[in-house]
Amino acid sequence: MVTLKNIYINTLKLLGSILDFIDPYNKKKIFIFHEISKKNQKKFYKVIKYIKSKYEILDPNNDFKFENNRKNQAFITFDDGYFSQYECAKKYLDKENIKAIFFIIYEFMKIKNKKNHKEFLKKNLLINNIKLNNKEFKNMTFENLKVLIKKGHIIGAHTLNHPNLTQIDKNNCKKEILSCKKKIKTKIGVKKIGNFAITFGGIKFINPYILKLCKKYYKATFTGIRGSNNNNKQIFFRENCDLNKDFSEIKFTIDGYADLHYFFDRLRLKVYKYFSTKC
Ligand SMILES: [Zn+2]
Repeated sequence: MVTLKNIYINTLKLLGSILDFIDPYNKKKIFIFHEISKKNQKKFYKVIKYIKSKYEILDPNNDFKFENNRKNQAFITFDDGYFSQYECAKKYLDKENIKAIFFIIYEFMKIKNKKNHKEFLKKNLLINNIKLNNKEFKNMTFENLKVLIKKGHIIGAHTLNHPNLTQIDKNNCKKEILSCKKKIKTKIGVKKIGNFAITFGGIKFINPYILKLCKKYYKATFTGIRGSNNNNKQIFFRENCDLNKDFSEIKFTIDGYADLHYFFDRLRLKVYKYFSTKC
């Protein structure tokens, strides 16, 4: 049955293909992964291989930036600090020689038992009971993070407790954004943490004050708004890859066809960036 959703998706695909035809080698993408349940690990590898076939995957070491050339380029990032991400990095990324950024929630890394991770995820990441009951959902430890660093990956900050930053007062907001960087540095013994990912990531979880703090304390800030980063220098768009979806839907995201849907969010972010210099 032809539904409105299908018509909309096909229209996005058509417009995306036209844009690809006009300018085929100039996509600058950052992909996000979250929990990778056991049943999705093979799919994760398939997705990584597909990204590799379409993009040159860059190493996020040194200062985070895309190269100024006419090539499709991408970075791989992981949010929240799940143990499954550590397993997949060891199993698949190392095999493909891919380096990634792992954005971690400081307080989540400290949890030592199953009941507590579930409570944290339910309260702070708003993950519902049905999902929590079906998945392994375990956090990485600080020792796991040290191994990732040794392998050449990067650790980024993703707040202390994963709050909705627009819903807390200014002092707490500053603490969540700045203290996690200081605490991670001390705990795992790295000299600098230059990358920060905004919690939940969408435009409704961002405001000019948050952007102002991020720009002050970090070299690069990552949202969850979809788009290509052709002119972005400090605040970046990212594409979420939901491994619970069909491969064809994930492919649609990787090809960049979902970007048009986020046009107004990107515009709003531009306005917030302007006001972040005034507040
Ligand atoms: Zn998160």
